[in-house]
Amino acid sequence: MIGEGRQTGRARWRLEVRGAVQGVGFRPFVYRLATELGLAGWVNNSPSGATIEIEGDRRLLDDFLIRLRGERPPACVLTRMDSTPLSPLGESSFAVRSSDEDGPKSAAILPDLATCADCLREIFDPTDRRYRYPFTNCTNCGPRYSILESLPYDRARTTMKGFIQCAACRAEYENPADRRFHAQPNACPRCGPHLQWWDSEGGVHAEGDDALHRAAAALRDGRIVAAKGLGGFHLMVDARDEGAVMRLRRRKRREAKPFGLMAPDFSVVQSCCHVSDAEERLLRSSAAPLVLLRRRSDALVAASVAPGNPYLASMLPSTPMHHLLLAELGFPIVATSGNCSDEPICIDEGEARARLAGIADGFLVHNRPIVRPVDDSLVRIVCGEVMVLRRARGYAPFSLAVVEPLPSLLALGAHQKNTIAVASGSQIVVGQHIGDLDTLLAREVFVRAADDLTRMYELTPQAVVCDLHPDYYSTRHAEKMNLPVVRVQHHRAHVRACMVEHGLTGAVLGAAWDGTGYGGDGTIWGGEFLRVEGDRCERVGHLRAFPLPGGERAIREPRRAAVGLLYEMLGDALFERRELAPLNDFSESERLILRGMLRASVNAPRTTSAGRLFDAVSSLLDLRHYTDLEGQAAMDLEFAVLEDQEESIYPFHLDASGVFDWEPMVATILDEIERGESVGVLAGRFHATMAEIIVAQARRVGESVVVLAGGCFQNARLLTATVERLRAAEYKVYWPRRIPPNDGGISLGQIAAAAALIRRRE
Ligand code: ZN
Ligand code: ZN
Ligand code: FE
Repeated sequence: MIGEGRQTGRARWRLEVRGAVQGVGFRPFVYRLATELGLAGWVNNSPSGATIEIEGDRRLLDDFLIRLRGERPPACVLTRMDSTPLSPLGESSFAVRSSDEDGPKSAAILPDLATCADCLREIFDPTDRRYRYPFTNCTNCGPRYSILESLPYDRARTTMKGFIQCAACRAEYENPADRRFHAQPNACPRCGPHLQWWDSEGGVHAEGDDALHRAAAALRDGRIVAAKGLGGFHLMVDARDEGAVMRLRRRKRREAKPFGLMAPDFSVVQSCCHVSDAEERLLRSSAAPLVLLRRRSDALVAASVAPGNPYLASMLPSTPMHHLLLAELGFPIVATSGNCSDEPICIDEGEARARLAGIADGFLVHNRPIVRPVDDSLVRIVCGEVMVLRRARGYAPFSLAVVEPLPSLLALGAHQKNTIAVASGSQIVVGQHIGDLDTLLAREVFVRAADDLTRMYELTPQAVVCDLHPDYYSTRHAEKMNLPVVRVQHHRAHVRACMVEHGLTGAVLGAAWDGTGYGGDGTIWGGEFLRVEGDRCERVGHLRAFPLPGGERAIREPRRAAVGLLYEMLGDALFERRELAPLNDFSESERLILRGMLRASVNAPRTTSAGRLFDAVSSLLDLRHYTDLEGQAAMDLEFAVLEDQEESIYPFHLDASGVFDWEPMVATILDEIERGESVGVLAGRFHATMAEIIVAQARRVGESVVVLAGGCFQNARLLTATVERLRAAEYKVYWPRRIPPNDGGISLGQIAAAAALIRRRE
């Protein structure tokens, strides 16, 4: 302002900085900046971020503030900065102090970061003291969340506490001008963790670099290697070797679920997949996730890596160990989570030897303990934006600042693709992907993770939040916790999760399209339209219900969903239509049983699930009648759609109460099947119709903002078509991006919904 020129003279300020500032080289950066400007004072990590006291000439202090924001390290995120004036103390130097342990624990915990370019150069430089050292890291890269035991983030509170730094490492760690200044996991071959190579019985056969060479040799021979990485074990095998990949599938008891691919470098990814610029940025990002990429027809990758799937989930090495191993090999490998079928990944070498016995031919292990399992994250680009499908290594924990203050809450998530979230004050933190809670091991990991998150943030929950479904393991655990329980309907949580992610507070129409969720009214929900405004949420529409003969079994057998759908439409006459693919897939005696079930409405719960409608149509088009993972039938349907086909839509009916009647659509599909129309064309029209239903519903409800949530929107074809059609009709549309649209987002939505419920009660 004119006349109000910058003040001069000496001053001292105290700055409370919040955000992701620990473990990202923030303190050394502050030290260098203050020293360069000739300012005095100190910086330390606090439980909620960092504290700076800075003293000197006012003009220089202003410069300090501007540059603090503008020049901060790349991984550092400043969410808030509060400043208080203090009396100058006349200090002349600037210091980095040790951590301050009092106060509420709310510092953003940093995810694990992939090896940076500087560290990468060192491990391949024969003159460097870290040449070929698999645990090289610095303040810009390396393990964080996977080695963190408690806050604040200091070496003594990580699993590096057992490794005493040598003189050379200590000198780096203590030198504010060094890239490794206060790099908590700092290590070198003299003082840090080491590799070992074990045979399948656990006998130690090699150490250090020899161990790495033994692992490489085994992989070249087509053998299966269990390798302890950053957040757990991978099972690895030569991705070009069909026999080896099939052997891994058999031993791991995993029939069809696609395996992830790890490539030595970007050019190898490009030789296997089509990669856009945005996808390349994701691959090379510090999160280094698995990126879902369209497979090239000439890719030299075994078909059984991702059977029947036009995509390959691919990633680049994210630790020095993986860089060294892959550089040794020069070819892509399968790198899938180190577990048997649906169990959680192993994190401990002793445990791995027991659990992966019979799967792995050898073990590449190390002695840096892992605190919690952190799987590989899975992301894709849809509608030009990043969508996180599994939030784990590099992305977890996820911290979100909200405007309205939250009660202290612990949300235990869903049963499938479980995640846990905690909230207090203005912060929500979602932990890493845990997985399905069907096995004892997964349940143990889940219970530990719930304790872990509450302990880490020193949270005393006012209430525990869970799903309405009484049989979810997470619900049963919530009931045992001696806390008030808040139950949140599954699809409400889906919509709320997307709203809180995008900071939406006004009225929205939410389309929650999903597999199956407990509705609370005796039917299974999953094709819901919810109108949400402030603390209120009402169901304003849904798919017409149809029976699922066999109940839960219908999830594994899309043909059951198809028979249920057709029975709802045709009644008993269905059983005369032998030409229909789903019916034809059952034996005569099975058909009799089905007919009995449907007639008497026994073991045939009714559902409004969009996911089951996709399954039913997939079976109707003879694409898939059985699945071993949920969503597989819908994926086949998505992949069947031809590129660039005209998108006419099927007739459908939307009544005044918002019920979408699919009967006119299915009747037309039956006619077209009879006429011999191609599956690709039918699949394309079906997707376009489903998208148009959401537009029609939006018109009927009259809200200008539409939120898309639930597992169905992992389908890129459905999401793209819906977003395009809604935008063309001038609606604002939001979908989950940083939090998965699937049940991985439920815990976040539970927090938001429970907070709304509690606000309403008060
Ligand atoms: Zn580095
Ligand atoms: Zn050292
Ligand atoms: Fe769901």
